[in-house]
Amino acid sequence: MSTIQAPVEPPKRRRIGVLTSGGDAPGMNGAVRAVVRMAIHSDCEAYAVFEGYEGLVHGGDMIRQIHWEDVRGWLSRGGTLIGSARSASFRERAGRLRAAKNMVLRGIDALVVCGGDGSLTGADVFRAEWPGLLKELVANGELTEAQVQPYQVLNIVGLVGSIDNDMSGTDATIGCYSSLTRICDAVDDVFDTAFSHQRGFVIEVMGRHCGWLALMAAISTGADWLFIPEIPPRDGWEDDMCSIITKNRKERGKRITIVIVAEGAQDRQLNKISSSTIKDILTERLGLDTRVTVLGHTQRGGAACAYDRWLSTLQGVEAVRAVLETTPDAPSPVITIRENKIMRTPLMEAVSLTKEVTSYIQAKDFDKAMTLRDAEFKEYHRAYLNTATPDHPKLFLPEKKRMRIAIIHVGAPAGGMNQATRAAVNYCLTRGHTPLAIHNGFPGLCRHHADKPVGSVREVKWLESDNWVNEGGSEIGTNRSLPSEDFETTAKCFELYKFDALFVVGGFEAFTAVSQLRKARVTYPAFRIPMVVLPATISNNVPGTEYSLGSDTCLNTLITFCDAIRQSASSSRRRVFVIETQGGKSGYIATTAGLAVGAVAVYIPEEGIDIQMLSRDIDFLRDNFARDKGANRAGKIILRNECASNTYSTQVIADMIKEEAKGRFESRAAVPGHFQQGGKPSPMDRVRALRMAIRCMQHIENYADKSPEEISVDELSAAVIGIKGSQVLFSPMGGPTGLEETETDWPRRRPKSEFWLELQGVVNMLSGRGTFKPEQ
Ligand code: ATP
Repeated sequence: MSTIQAPVEPPKRRRIGVLTSGGDAPGMNGAVRAVVRMAIHSDCEAYAVFEGYEGLVHGGDMIRQIHWEDVRGWLSRGGTLIGSARSASFRERAGRLRAAKNMVLRGIDALVVCGGDGSLTGADVFRAEWPGLLKELVANGELTEAQVQPYQVLNIVGLVGSIDNDMSGTDATIGCYSSLTRICDAVDDVFDTAFSHQRGFVIEVMGRHCGWLALMAAISTGADWLFIPEIPPRDGWEDDMCSIITKNRKERGKRITIVIVAEGAQDRQLNKISSSTIKDILTERLGLDTRVTVLGHTQRGGAACAYDRWLSTLQGVEAVRAVLETTPDAPSPVITIRENKIMRTPLMEAVSLTKEVTSYIQAKDFDKAMTLRDAEFKEYHRAYLNTATPDHPKLFLPEKKRMRIAIIHVGAPAGGMNQATRAAVNYCLTRGHTPLAIHNGFPGLCRHHADKPVGSVREVKWLESDNWVNEGGSEIGTNRSLPSEDFETTAKCFELYKFDALFVVGGFEAFTAVSQLRKARVTYPAFRIPMVVLPATISNNVPGTEYSLGSDTCLNTLITFCDAIRQSASSSRRRVFVIETQGGKSGYIATTAGLAVGAVAVYIPEEGIDIQMLSRDIDFLRDNFARDKGANRAGKIILRNECASNTYSTQVIADMIKEEAKGRFESRAAVPGHFQQGGKPSPMDRVRALRMAIRCMQHIENYADKSPEEISVDELSAAVIGIKGSQVLFSPMGGPTGLEETETDWPRRRPKSEFWLELQGVVNMLSGRGTFKPEQ
């Protein structure tokens, strides 16, 4: 029972509570930090409820005001620092009655709940009962009419924190990509031993009702077979699985066999399919030396990946906005994400859809269950099947629709390039197309033509590309040179190899190359073929998309670097690191990394750097260090994009800070350089590479029976695939509304309007830099 019994006046500032509930998930701390700081920034007070609903029921010290400084450094911490629990007492009305009393006594009438569907259901029940609970508290004399009067409405906002990604209505939940990262790291590690001994591995991952983790892991690691709860295999699956694996090993020469199984995997009669059953089948029927690896709780552990830090931060900020904007009659919202857009969805709509999926599975109506799953999930599943079982004559297109599709990488290497190529190759093989890899970009193509056949254009075989599933960089070789350096030879090569389509994976150069080829169609008929750019660059500066392959890998590498370097200052306590990021003239990477590591400031070319800015930031640092409490012993980070200023270099800024700090703190410069291009691509880059590459191939297929003339006048025949807001779209390069004219800042090699610029405001708000006023 709460110890606070005295009547309270309504507080001067609105009080917002935040709790984490259900299974913990990486990113929950980022969400709490964002809620706390956004609440304080919005002139409210923030209260943390410890141990989930247990804390709300017990009150006392388990509900505490939480201040700006208290959440410093939380972004990089795994688990949930305010604790989580499964609370039996909150399931009872009596428990919720105590919870309501505890909230009223503290003047809290808004609650941000981060948890799974159970936690969010609990929150909704609580809100629905709230008026009745208050009446009961007055009726039984625990509170007075005057005490409850200011709190007639309880505001609830949900954040989905769950590693399973099992909530309908959102593409991703806070924690799911971190968990996927743990899984992929583990499977990547198994690769080497599996290859050495030609072994089979059955890997069991979490997911009692939802196969998202298993599906994405299967895509990211090129698994031979996948078991998920919502799509049980057809009867006789044992034969199907053995036949595919035999084909992959014997006919195609694959040395590694990976089977991914979700813990809730089952057959069509709802009998569990366990990892040990699968192992026995592979061992007994195929004589395959097979091992089982059950990943268990490692999947929950560790720091949040870049995406989860970004997602939890932006969703936490949005949750507070929703609290402040919600009206008494509006249904409680849950904060969701669709592609790249943070949105609000009625909480109970999302929860009921989620529950319906489970009920349909229980009723063995698997088709219906899948229709209720998000479109993205279904697309990924189809894409996995497309690429996992190539050479499927049933899926072959008629002869006249089969195309010779050239694949080229242009620009600097980026994570996901190989995976996009692998997906394109596999898709081609599934449909009867011929995938042709151009090695080493346009110079590679032209060199071949100069009567020196060096194998620069080659048909790619399944096994070759299959091995690229988790490799970084560019296996077919990439080059920055553009076709304009030799249009003549380029066109001859297009004719020589009878290219019917061109699939270009790369950054701004790739975009420029396709623009050049499109314009040169007037002179060179060979270029009158469909051409698609799949953006892949760590700079994320390609017009027509808000996301490029490789940018997520780069961000993850950068945050690992920043976390480590920040930690190195934990003994000295008073150190600022000025870290230089790549990104050319686009500040995307610097800003997003700034958001993910909680940078004090981010310097980008779009804003530049001036002396007033530096002077103010040094004052801000002084103030910041003065407020540091003992527990926050890590260093502070400033990120500076490599092109932010010609004068104020990274070293100069670090030196200026050191000089001006006058011994109160010190400063160091650090340049991670090419380290940022990353090693193995992040799971997000891998899975998006697959999905986008397949979309590109499908787009190209639309032109199979079109004439060169028809193709030339069709604006979408030279296009960029991209994520824009909540959609994945193809945008035309040319034409009056095309990207070349309307969206490209050619001199600065970036889009004219950059969607992420507003994130600068969020970085500054969360660091306090935005509202900092130096003393006069
Ligand atoms: P996970 O995805 O990890 O399972 P979850 O939020 O679904 O997370 P649950 O154990 O279902 O986890 O719920 C967490 C807590 O939410 C429960 O312990 C309980 O306190 C509360 N809760 C769940 N369902 C209800 C409900 N119908 N009414 C009241 N409280 C509930």
